[in-house]
Amino acid sequence: MYGYDLLVVGSANADLVIGVERRPDPGETVLGSDLAVHPGGKGANQAVAAARLGARTALLARVGDDAHGRLLLDSLRGAGVDTVGVLVGGAPTGVALITVDSGGDNAIVVSPGANGLLTPADARAATSLFHASRVVSAQLEIPLETVVDVVRALPPETRFVLNASPPRALPAEVLAACDPLIVNEHEARVLLGGSRVGEDPADWARILLAKGPRAVVVTLGARGALVASRDGVAHVPALDVTPVDTTGAGDAFTAALAWRLSRGEPLVEAAAYAARVGAATVTRRGAQASFPTARDVAAARS
Ligand code: ADP
Repeated sequence: MYGYDLLVVGSANADLVIGVERRPDPGETVLGSDLAVHPGGKGANQAVAAARLGARTALLARVGDDAHGRLLLDSLRGAGVDTVGVLVGGAPTGVALITVDSGGDNAIVVSPGANGLLTPADARAATSLFHASRVVSAQLEIPLETVVDVVRALPPETRFVLNASPPRALPAEVLAACDPLIVNEHEARVLLGGSRVGEDPADWARILLAKGPRAVVVTLGARGALVASRDGVAHVPALDVTPVDTTGAGDAFTAALAWRLSRGEPLVEAAAYAARVGAATVTRRGAQASFPTARDVAAARS
């Protein structure tokens, strides 16, 4: 009996955002806008995105015993995420310090804080959550050794989805468990390292697949996504929308894909739904604030 469609294992951060005319030079001080504090981090974002679509979702993460931790717990609970697996304490809640300049470009400093203390022992202690979940998903804003232990703790019938963001070299054991591995263009290039792979994303997907995952999804922003499996490479088109803010598109896509897979949908169909969710997300401002409900997705123009 499964209690959850999806267990997300990942990070939770407070995003502290200040708008500036221009960034200060070293030693200089500039004035900025009022401070905005938003719940964020890829783990929390993906859990909120899935729950907003209607998935029964739990999050395994660590936050500090502080105001930012409480902000995150409130936003997760508000979206309907089960926070039984959110551990509290040990270090301050992770923070992303974000300045946005007048050209709309972000500059970001991340202090991982409590995310860095989500240990392999925490993953092993959460075995009952793994057994209660149809799909387990992770990203790479937590220690890699914890992701390795997540893979080792997975019951054989539980599907594992990895969004390799931020990208880094992955052990063969983790790659072999991915069904699928999800990357955007930038992440695909980093995972492919210096290899001479050309400019065709279908080639990247094939080469990544040959490294061991059961399937690979490469997201291509306004060009949709590619799905590579033993059946070949399929292109999933994007919806034609006018983007307002692309923050969170990858998180929304990953969450939606993982949820649809938990319902037994074939990978290409799940990716097509996830592309609709990604498109709906870019038509609104913010990260968690921009994630659509299933009704919003159904209403999105195809
Ligand atoms: P990331 O946010 O990780 O960089 P992408 O930009 O590739 O990820 O976006 C993830 C998915 O969201 C895409 O595969 C696509 O389906 C959808 N998407 C993103 N940007 C747009 C856009 N401008 N128009 C339509 N769909 C988009």
